Amino acid sequence: MGKKNIESICPSCKSSNTNIFLNIPKVPVHCNLLWETSDDALRAPMSEIILGFCGDCEHIFNCAFDPALMEYTQQYENSLHFSPYFQDYARELADRLIETYDLHGKSIIEIGCGKGEFLKLLCEWGGNRGVGFDSSYENVGETDSDLEITFIKDFYSDRYLNYRSDFICCRQVLEHIQYPYDFMTDLRRMIGNKDTIVFFEVPNVDYTLKDLGIWDLIYEHRSFFSRSSLMYLFKACGFSVRDVSESYEGQFLCIEAVPEKLHPDTKGEHVCDMKMRHNVEKFTETFWARIETWQEKVRMMERSGQKAVLWGAGSKGVTFLNMIGGKDKIKYVIDINPRKQGKYTPGTGHKILPPEFLREFRPDIVIIMNPVYINEIQQMLDSYGLSAQLMPVL
Ligand SMILES: [Zn+2]
Repeated sequence: MGKKNIESICPSCKSSNTNIFLNIPKVPVHCNLLWETSDDALRAPMSEIILGFCGDCEHIFNCAFDPALMEYTQQYENSLHFSPYFQDYARELADRLIETYDLHGKSIIEIGCGKGEFLKLLCEWGGNRGVGFDSSYENVGETDSDLEITFIKDFYSDRYLNYRSDFICCRQVLEHIQYPYDFMTDLRRMIGNKDTIVFFEVPNVDYTLKDLGIWDLIYEHRSFFSRSSLMYLFKACGFSVRDVSESYEGQFLCIEAVPEKLHPDTKGEHVCDMKMRHNVEKFTETFWARIETWQEKVRMMERSGQKAVLWGAGSKGVTFLNMIGGKDKIKYVIDINPRKQGKYTPGTGHKILPPEFLREFRPDIVIIMNPVYINEIQQMLDSYGLSAQLMPVL
């Protein structure tokens, strides 16, 4: 693996007033990159997470992050689109944004649009025009010719200033970017004196810290934003924050902002929240305790001869398997996303199978990575006539 470069300057405010509080030595570099064979999956690239905390803006970031390892290819599969819960969430969000910002007949840019599902909602429902940027864009399925949407397989940059933007949205992207301060400053400069509204959605580290969503700590994320560090960043980069809210049961943060025109160079005033510092300090201890608890639970299942599967081959599931260890204890991973089925999880080489597989396997325990999906999983098991115990990983 070689020696890692540790970069301890805060990537969100450039302060050197930071300290390291957690070191996770061996995690897959790409949690969402699945493999064709178990052997390939076991040889997947691994690296480490070294978490730093910024005493000035309260940002949490991976000091060992190496962008050179982050090659997003078309194999990269992180769409949550197949979950009804997630679809409802995306629809409600699109609806709310159209309503709040009167998005009708407007020009919308989405940065990191993935397969374009969300942009299509905004354009279809509001009668808007859309341009989606994603360096890993691949055209899946038929394009609706009624919609005025262009997809560009590239990063959004100065080259594309000719595309109008009344509204820019960017979901689950900012946390992957090596220098979010530079990224937001560039975006602010590109907006210039226009009245563009920006909407960003990121995972919420407050949830990770308070509710111990420790399986959300993945290498792909350079940054772990809290409400305060996110607001600090936007203000520091010349935006005026309209609203910050939690969504997806507190797991995501949504920020809505407009360009600050009067005092674009004013840094956000900030009082460091002692509670945040306390949560960070407490986290390290509880992190390792949580892992031991689950290792013990899984050992108990094995000893009592109970058959367990894990539901959810997303980043939480992959992180869980890698941190808990023991390929033989949990045999399979179930996922409703057909693009993941038949593939193998990085680092542990678990085979991913469709829910129907459970009819034949008849598990005693289904470990559920994200408790928001518990109802839809229960319904599916009921329809198969299975009475497995559902065990959410809280
Ligand atoms: Zn900072």
